[in-house]
Amino acid sequence: MELHITDIQGNLTRLKERITKVCERCNRNPAEMTIVAVTKTVPVSEILEAINQGVNNIGENRIQEAQNKFAVVEANGLQRHLIGHLQTNKVKHAVRLFDFIQSVDSVELAYTIDRKAREINKIQDCLIEVKISPEPAKFGVTPEKLEQLYAVTSKMPNLQVKGLMFMAPMVTNPNDTRPFFRQANQLFSAIIAKHGHPQGFKILSMGMSDDFEIAIEEGSNMIRIGRAIFGSS
Ligand SMILES: *Cc1c(COP(=O)(O)O)cnc(C)c1O
Repeated sequence: MELHITDIQGNLTRLKERITKVCERCNRNPAEMTIVAVTKTVPVSEILEAINQGVNNIGENRIQEAQNKFAVVEANGLQRHLIGHLQTNKVKHAVRLFDFIQSVDSVELAYTIDRKAREINKIQDCLIEVKISPEPAKFGVTPEKLEQLYAVTSKMPNLQVKGLMFMAPMVTNPNDTRPFFRQANQLFSAIIAKHGHPQGFKILSMGMSDDFEIAIEEGSNMIRIGRAIFGSS
């Protein structure tokens, strides 16, 4: 029998040390950095261990998987993020399951979230996912259509747009993500310059296990970390 034990506590300690280091380097406050522990494919026992170690934001990318796990994973103050693509026919479940939906990328989806949230008397926190990667398979609204999507969604009564989410393309050298993160921050800043911070628009969600240091240097304040916490299965 092969026994595989992930040192979640050690991984979290090392992750926080790296965050502190990069924050020192670019003169930012580590306390302003939200870590979303990405728990897709991670068993419930390990999620509970991470929560035990102080994790209070978790991210899943499939409705069905989240449904099964969230029935067991409960904790005070736990924030649950949907970070994967959302189909309109699953919105009803998503608004019940998640505190944050990070993948709003069309007016139609936003409209459905607003309507389904209203049905259960909820104000749904969301991020708009913007596609900056040239890879064809990636979801997200194009930078050209971002302003229009923001303008429409920010008026929806049961949906609050709290910021933007980005994914960098797959690269061999993490430093190659820098121009994408920089463009992301410019798009984020442009919205704030034009509209201010209504509804608490201040989250810039970008950076994963391989590129979070670059993302933080380029202005990220929410990183989504899977493998650096839970190992690669
Ligand atoms: C899987 C995933 C992550 C985490 O990726 P790691 O490389 O394991 O840190 C972050 N964001 C999204 C949208 C993901 O699907």
